[in-house]
Amino acid sequence: MIPVQGLAGQKVAVLGLGRSGLATARALIAGGAEPLLWDDSPEARTTAEAAGFACTDLTRQSALDGVTTLVTSPGIPHLYPAPHNVIARALELGIPVDNDIGLFFRSFATEDWDAFDTPPRVVCVTGSNGKSTTTALIHHICQVAQRPTQMAGNIGRGVLDLDPAEDGGVVVLELSSYQTDLARSLTPDIAVFTNLSPDHLDRHGGMGGYFAAKRRLFAEGGPDRCVIGVDEIEGRYLAGQLAETPVDDRVIRISSGQKLEGFGWSVFARKGFLAEWRKGKQMASIDLREVAGLPGAHNHQNACAAYAVCRSLGFAPKVIEQAFHSFAGLPHRSQLVGERAGVRFVNDSKATNVDSAGKALQAFSKIRWIAGGLGKEGGIKGLLPFLGSVQKAYLIGHSARDFALELGDTPHEICETMDRAVTAAAAEAQPGEVVLLAPAAASFDQYPNFEKRGEDFAARVKALIAGS
Ligand code: ADP
Repeated sequence: MIPVQGLAGQKVAVLGLGRSGLATARALIAGGAEPLLWDDSPEARTTAEAAGFACTDLTRQSALDGVTTLVTSPGIPHLYPAPHNVIARALELGIPVDNDIGLFFRSFATEDWDAFDTPPRVVCVTGSNGKSTTTALIHHICQVAQRPTQMAGNIGRGVLDLDPAEDGGVVVLELSSYQTDLARSLTPDIAVFTNLSPDHLDRHGGMGGYFAAKRRLFAEGGPDRCVIGVDEIEGRYLAGQLAETPVDDRVIRISSGQKLEGFGWSVFARKGFLAEWRKGKQMASIDLREVAGLPGAHNHQNACAAYAVCRSLGFAPKVIEQAFHSFAGLPHRSQLVGERAGVRFVNDSKATNVDSAGKALQAFSKIRWIAGGLGKEGGIKGLLPFLGSVQKAYLIGHSARDFALELGDTPHEICETMDRAVTAAAAEAQPGEVVLLAPAAASFDQYPNFEKRGEDFAARVKALIAGS
């Protein structure tokens, strides 16, 4: 745990008692503050009480009397479409509103650091897509390079639940736009912006607000090193703002698809090869085509981001390359779950919308595609340009018939269930093909969440392979 510094003896309101809220409460107590806890959900309050905390109704008119800070959870709107009433009240009273990320940055560095040979580093990753994969990949490379490392934020653990820093330690945090928007301290040593596409626009008052939330990671004097995806105009704008000149190597530009040779420092992937350039010279090249855990151009973008961070940490290209090969991928994101007679089975259950399913369809050349579920507005029209690689679609769930109507000439079969889809796709797949679950739909018609859907796919694949 990271005890919160600077709030000893003060009353701090904590709104939202999920994993990060409870970690925050513990860290506040360890730092000598008095947390007042509340969650609108009775179940969350019961869980908090079972963990030994008392709850205080923060929605009462005088509940914030004497409170010096309000700490809120990322899922609770703080501005748009409308602030939660407790947050609105704090703003009226002029009480600072913060989150666990802000508390972490004000509390992580301690006096013991003076005795360390290598100061600990904090790496933060934000962007619309690829955050979790990039974060997990950086963490994995640090492990392979035998640096003490911890991972937290939007992925897994709450940040205040981390262990105190070690000599030479690297903390890797995945941060969503909700988290970067609100944190009052945000001072990473290395910050990554992967890419930008419209998402969560209601919470940010539109695209400008969404981009502004992510850009905050690069404000406050800025990180020592900024790794910026420049495949969209917003990334190019941000990189241009942060660099003094095009050859300023405080900014590492990354791209999937573009050659970036004229900058101070860049890392890009083209046709399956990653290249690192510094001041007009190529420094390294890595063949990503056989890296099983990172298939497709979207994952090559993630590889470029993680590579750039790890080079900034001083790791050799060879070490990074070796670590790429032992990266298993994250569950449910282009994850290889089995192989039989030259057919690979890939689980991208996280591809719940057309955008991410499109990336998955571009990642492989011959696909037996399992798709469908609870379809989204607009159907799958956006995927029509990527159907060239689809040998046949096996449709499941509520949207199966609607998807079938949109598929036109692409061979397809309505299977209804995962069981039938996996059996049919596996029976018809030829060596060299990929059976891909990339549903382009939510899972809630047949499963509690996308994780359970992915687990069902993986379990059926494993049973099939074991039985053959
Ligand atoms: P995030 O944490 O930002 O949601 P994930 O790594 O969990 O990102 O990936 C979410 C979905 O987006 C998955 O379907 C994945 O295959 C796809 N994806 C991963 N990396 C990228 C990227 N760089 N660009 C676009 N899509 C990506």
